[in-house]
Amino acid sequence: MTTVNAYASFAADQPLAPTTIERREVGPHDVLIDIKFAGICHSDIHTARAEWGEPTNRPIVVGHEIAGIVSEVGSEVSKHKVGDRVGVGCMVNSCRECENCQAGMEQYCLKGMTGTYDAIDVDGNPTAGGYSTAIVVTEDFVLRIPEGIELDAAAPLLCAGVTLFSPLARFGAGPGKKVAIIGLGGLGHMGVKIAHAMGAEVTVLSQSLKKQEDGLRLGADHYYATSDDETFASLKGSFDLIVNTVSANLPMDSYLGLLKAEGTLVEVGAPEKPMPISAFSLIGGGKTLAGSMIGGIAQTQEMLDFCAEHHLGAEIEVIGADKINEAWERVVASDVRYRFVIDTSTFDN
Ligand code: NAP
Ligand code: ZN
Repeated sequence: MTTVNAYASFAADQPLAPTTIERREVGPHDVLIDIKFAGICHSDIHTARAEWGEPTNRPIVVGHEIAGIVSEVGSEVSKHKVGDRVGVGCMVNSCRECENCQAGMEQYCLKGMTGTYDAIDVDGNPTAGGYSTAIVVTEDFVLRIPEGIELDAAAPLLCAGVTLFSPLARFGAGPGKKVAIIGLGGLGHMGVKIAHAMGAEVTVLSQSLKKQEDGLRLGADHYYATSDDETFASLKGSFDLIVNTVSANLPMDSYLGLLKAEGTLVEVGAPEKPMPISAFSLIGGGKTLAGSMIGGIAQTQEMLDFCAEHHLGAEIEVIGADKINEAWERVVASDVRYRFVIDTSTFDN
């Protein structure tokens, strides 16, 4: 066991605080990663604040956008070597045998994938995430970060990047397709960059026009404020594909009205409460409402390679340990441009 520094949530209504955690010994198929950067995903906040129910274990160390350097490998490891630039996303294992795992959809493992945090690891201990200085992960769930993407800008790709890449690829975002991204936050800004790189015509639907200049710079062709009712009237029936990244409840019927006939709205945001939908919003126009959760391991690697090829990283604000709690408040207030990334070298507790 190795003791490492970490930041943990001790209670839903308390700020994160420094602590230490134990990492398991490096087994034959394991990789020890010296974590350099960890992105702050809104899911970290939903989890720690018990917005999806009380997490399995406290204190809980969150963080599933991990970028670092391999510092030790087990005797049987063939995919990674000491010194490699690597990443870990939202999962650290799955059964690998069920139909979904076999099809490369480990995130939908029928026995339940092992989350990077809030799950039980192979050694029977709770998993603990990226707000820490090192992690031990089985080699198959460790991704290669290509040269050409800085490690800090790469970290958010491990969750935000793949969460948008996967549905955009699945529903054919590309030339001739009109794609709208709802919410220009951590996920949304990667959606704009990736959909643009795929060749789609991209529209941002944001609460206000405050971030319009950024949205256009990131690759959007159009930008609208959803606080303006005129937006819903003028864009009625416009989009082939809409991806909703918003962390709060939205009036879904209004957004379904923005789809073309047989268009698809993909939900990736994960708000605390259910969102009602009228049957008529779907049947009128033959619309599809879909969902998507991160991506499989092979697809995550494909996304990283795609981002390297297109020179896409996240737009980040790198912070030290002393700013994590403040950053969380800013994420909740939609005041993030566009992902906070923690420099874990500041964890000197
Ligand atoms: P984020 O950085 O906070 O971005 C969410 C954006 O939604 C905000 O920047 C804001 O954009 C918009 N928004 C927030 N509150 C709103 C409100 N009340 N009404 C309308 N718009 C609002 O969060 P994130 O890290 O991108 O995560 C977004 C959601 O996706 C979270 O619920 C998270 O748990 C979930 N998630 C899902 C997956 C998955 O696999 N499906 C993966 C990761 C995260 P504007 O200011 O532009 O309006
Ligand atoms: Zn996430």
